[in-house]
Order: sequence, then structure tokens, then C-alpha cells
Amino acid sequence: MARAASRPRLTPARALRLVSLLGVWVFITINAALHQKTGGGPEGCPTVDAFCPFGGLETLYKWAAEGTFLPRIFPSSLLLLAGTVLLALVLRRAFCGWICPLGAMQELFAGVGRRLGWRRSTQGSKLDAALRPLKYVVLVVIIAGTWLTGELVFRPYDPWAAWAHVPAGLGELHEEFLIGTLVLGLTLLGSVLVDRPWCRYLCPLGALLGGVSHLGATRVVRREETCRHCGACDRACPVDIPVEALSQVRTTECLSCAECVAVCPVPDTLQLRAGRRVLSPLTFGIATLGIFFGLILITQATGVWRARPVTMAEITGQGATLDAANIRGFMSLQQIAESYGVSAPEILRVLALPPDTDLSRQIRHLMPAAGREVDEVRQAVVQLLGQPGSSGGPTTPAPPSAAGGSGDGSGGAGEAQGLTGMTTLRQVEEQHQVPADWLLDKLGLPADTDRETPLRDLLRPREQEVQEVREAVEEYRRSGP
Ligand code: SF4
Ligand code: SF4
Repeated sequence: MARAASRPRLTPARALRLVSLLGVWVFITINAALHQKTGGGPEGCPTVDAFCPFGGLETLYKWAAEGTFLPRIFPSSLLLLAGTVLLALVLRRAFCGWICPLGAMQELFAGVGRRLGWRRSTQGSKLDAALRPLKYVVLVVIIAGTWLTGELVFRPYDPWAAWAHVPAGLGELHEEFLIGTLVLGLTLLGSVLVDRPWCRYLCPLGALLGGVSHLGATRVVRREETCRHCGACDRACPVDIPVEALSQVRTTECLSCAECVAVCPVPDTLQLRAGRRVLSPLTFGIATLGIFFGLILITQATGVWRARPVTMAEITGQGATLDAANIRGFMSLQQIAESYGVSAPEILRVLALPPDTDLSRQIRHLMPAAGREVDEVRQAVVQLLGQPGSSGGPTTPAPPSAAGGSGDGSGGAGEAQGLTGMTTLRQVEEQHQVPADWLLDKLGLPADTDRETPLRDLLRPREQEVQEVREAVEEYRRSGP
């Protein structure tokens, strides 16, 4: 049954929490809009995935096994994951209550619901109790799916990813995030009636942090001797925990938001405690933000933080020799010319592009706009540098051959660099001894794909590049199926 809405005072701790939630939401939303406008790459804006701690969990297996990241994920995601887990170990789900931008959006809509008197308590609801464990199932399914496929399987369903792509327009939302957009809409509309529905029932990151928070030292403690049983704490709790009836809040559903403490009319009746030590909500908030943003600042200062792809300078600075295979879609012709020591007009000539071509444009946009393939730039650079290309080995050291591979490099891993957009699956199979079935599975293509279709015709509709085929071929030759 609904009870009257309470309006807690705007204490310094509540102000800090609201500023933090709103600030993170605004920062990531603006960043997402700029990413859509200016693109990614080393000089563009990071993808929204680069600021997602859950992306760190999704890429964890690939990072541990291969030292690389899933597409769109960078070291920043792993560092944010480390920050949220560290926070959960110390201050339980403080990330959810003080930082999460999707939590901020839900609270915004919940505030409207409270003002309109539409908000309903779910305390004692069997449906609510039955739905809460669902988020743990979501967590397991996503992690198993992502680790098995090597793809971000959650992305199309992720309401936050959908929100970050709103600036891309309705077309992209419809094509890539139809379900994510529906989930976002339902979450926000649902928040008007029930606070934080995503956090309660579906959030996989909340499930992870809830599990970790079992080890957390902090908790809300209620002193029965001074409690007036006014119910204000129950009404203020965004996840409907029956604080008034508990001596301690130990459930992993608690977001550590301290709203109950802020609203309690009797001083010191509700306390945030770490062991025997009493923490004021303000101290708790400062500790939360200090740990989380302190970690980001330290990793930025020490150069560990990275939320964008590496630049050409970084690639060459890491000791890789100038292999045209290192050319990526986010690079411009100008960058490529400078990095490879070839003249930009020469590249244009070899590519038969007009002399007034915009050299600063990323080739992933430039080449398709001209009806061409990104891979053709690699071939042009190979030609200009006199690199072996399709008939020889790479200039970077070739990975060691698997036991079944040829030891002399004939048809070896390095020759995968010679694959072009015109190569067919049949040719890949015959020339590199990589089963087409395995390759199709690896690339996420249907098993009945025509083996005689050129790679570029298979990959272009999926915005994939031939380089992915080369890497898959090299992986197969190195490690087998
Ligand atoms: S019990 Fe208190 S700290 Fe926990 S979620 Fe509810 S209001 Fe926030
Ligand atoms: S703990 Fe405080 S807010 Fe909650 S019922 Fe008791 S007096 Fe009211």
C-alpha cells in the first residue's frame, strides 16, 4: 500500500550524492554525444563502453587469456571494474548509490513519481521477491555468452548503451539498439512507480557488486531504543528495504545511498558503521568518491589509463616495425603518410583518389564514401613501401607456428597479411588451411555463407574489416581450432 511521500532535507551528504550522480551522468552523456559527432580513434571521443566497468568484466577472459581486449573495450574498462569491485569490498554497493549514471536517470524519474504520488512500495510483494534474483541469472548468461563468443552479447540489450546512442539518431537506435531502447524506456517509465527497477531486477553489474559486497565492512545500523517507528526510512529507501524492522541492513540489495540515514528525524538512530566506527554520510560519500575517482586519477597520472585506441606513434613506439597491417580504420591518410614515411599525394595516386581528398578524414569513413575498402589503403602502402604484401611475410615478427603449421613460413601465419577484400572463403581455406566453417563461426557469419563470395562483400554489411580475417587466420595457425 502506498504511503505518503517524504521530502528529506538537502544535507551536505545528499547534495554531494546528487551532484555526483548528476555529474557522472552529464559527463558520460556529453562524451557519448561527442563520440557520435566526431567519431572515436586516438583523437576522437572514447566510446561509452570505455567508461563502463561492466565492459571490464566482459573482456576479462580475453584479457587474461590473450592480453587483448574485446572490440570497443580499453584498459579504462578494466580499471573501472577494479575501482567498483574495490569500492564494493570496502563500502559495499556505494558505486550504485553514489556514481552510476543509469541509477541517476532512474532516480530522476522516481522523483517525478514521488511528486505525483504514483510511487508504490513493494515491501512484502511476492512478485518483487521473485524477480530480484533475476539479475544474477542475467549476469551469468551475459558473462558465459561473452566469454564463449568473444562478442559483447549484452550490448544490443543494454539500456545504457542505447541511451549513449540516442545522438546517433533513430535509425541507428532502431538498427542496433531496438531492444536496449525498449528496456531503457520501460526502465524509466517503471521508475515512476517503483524506484530503481533496473537495479533491483536486471542489472548484471549490480549483481556482481552485490555478490562482492557480502565482504564489505559497512552497514546501516538502527538503534531500537531511540527509534520512533515513524517509517520515514522505509519510505525513503529506493529499493524498499524494511529498515524500520531491521536492527542492521546487511542485505546485498542495499545501495549504500544513505537516504534512510538522511531522512531519519531522530539523530543517531540510524548510523552508517564500518565495524564499530560510525561514519557520517558525508564522510562515507567522500570516501566513495575518493576511492573511485582517486583510482582514475592515479592511473591517468601513471599512464596506465587508456580509453582510446593506440596512435600510430604509440604503435611504432612499442617497437613494432612499420607493417601496413597495423593500419586501422580510425587513422587518416595524413597520419598514415607521416607514420610510414610515404607521401600523401603518392597514396592518393596509387588509390586513384582525387588530389583534393580530405587527408585528415578517418579512412573508415573516407574509403566507404568513395566506394572503396579500408584494406585498399594497406595494399597501397605495401606497394609504396615495396613490402612483400600477399607474396611474402610481414615486417613484424611472425608468431610461432602451431605444431601443425609449416615451419618454413610457406603458407604460414605471416601470409595471412596478404589476404585482401577480393579473397574468397574458399581461397582462404585452400591457401591457408583454415576450415571455412571455423572461420565463419569465428567471424559470427552464418554457416551456410557462400564460400565463393569475396570477403569484402561478406564483411562490409557487418562493418567488419579484412584485418579481422587475417587475425583469425593467424590465430588458427597459432593455436588451432
Ligand atoms: S537501506 Fe538505506 S542505504 Fe540502503 S538502499 Fe535503502 S536507503 Fe539506501
Ligand atoms: S529509524 Fe528513524 S526514520 Fe526509521 S522508523 Fe526509526 S525514527 Fe523513523
